[in-house]
Amino acid sequence: MKVLVTGGAGYIGSVCGEELIRAGHEVVVWDNLSEGHRSAVPPQAVFLQGDLADRDLLQRAVLEHRPEAVIHFAGKALVPESMRDPSSYYRVNVMGGINLLDAMVSSGCRKIIFSSTCATYGLPEKMPMDEQTPQKPINPYGHSKLVFEQVLAWYAQIHGIVPTCLRYFNASGASAERGEHHRVETHLIPNVLLTALGQRKEVEVFGENHATPDGTCIRDYIHVKDLASAHILALAREKPGHFNVGTGNGYSVKQVIEVARKVTKKEIPMRGQPARAGDPPALVASSHKLQRELGWKPNHSGLEEILTNAWDWHRAHPNGYAD
Ligand code: UDP
Repeated sequence: MKVLVTGGAGYIGSVCGEELIRAGHEVVVWDNLSEGHRSAVPPQAVFLQGDLADRDLLQRAVLEHRPEAVIHFAGKALVPESMRDPSSYYRVNVMGGINLLDAMVSSGCRKIIFSSTCATYGLPEKMPMDEQTPQKPINPYGHSKLVFEQVLAWYAQIHGIVPTCLRYFNASGASAERGEHHRVETHLIPNVLLTALGQRKEVEVFGENHATPDGTCIRDYIHVKDLASAHILALAREKPGHFNVGTGNGYSVKQVIEVARKVTKKEIPMRGQPARAGDPPALVASSHKLQRELGWKPNHSGLEEILTNAWDWHRAHPNGYAD
């Protein structure tokens, strides 16, 4: 298939591009390089630099390249930033997405796989969470993604768009060539590994009094290669759907640091900090629906494999894509 990958220069998008090409698909990347890196784009892909806000350019690109499907990664994805600057989350994640859908409608492209998030659920009452969990986000990031899921449902009804919403839990790990490099790093695992590399003095642990066994937040870490395979399986779907993508296993911040110490054989000092605004104490997925309906399996998502792959990538690229 010819697939337009928005955000294909970013962390998850670039690994997915790599896996799409390996599976024999043709990839066209659309990315404004605000977070992504040109050198993360697989060399076999066509690269178009553009912003989702640029409706005309996007429309022309879709009409020219005529993708058969779109995988829509481009967007803003940081909870704390969304609590300070909600406006950019609605502009990029909602308006940008609408521009993309309108371009798809005008070119007759119907299939879209959308990067949604467990942050659309908010504070779930039962764990692990399945897709029936009420969606009550507690931060603008989660809300902006929920709004776009709802926009997709209407475009499905009115324009015949076929959306698959993949609600990611915590993407992590690396492929042999591509890993996680944000210009301002806020994510736990890269921060832990940058501390192991000596680039940071200590890991800040946000909140030690959450309602969890050791008081630190629990997340479900999913290997980026397993996330990529969920997208590739979803390309074959012919009807709309919503799926969680996680492992069903949750690890606390302190447990992640403990396993990272074992993998890296480094001390990794840590220091308690106040909880971050908008952070749910625990988010763990039930992915039974994805396993049942798409035949997906998490093959690489043990925490030790995730940390080992991420550590190998960080050691090989101590300055990320700036090398
Ligand atoms: N976290 C932390 N220290 C860090 C980064 C993150 O304690 O340097 C915590 C954060 O509060 C959250 C968890 O680790 O509970 C995962 O955060 P991350 O930003 O990686 O992903 P999120 O779950 O926010 O998407």
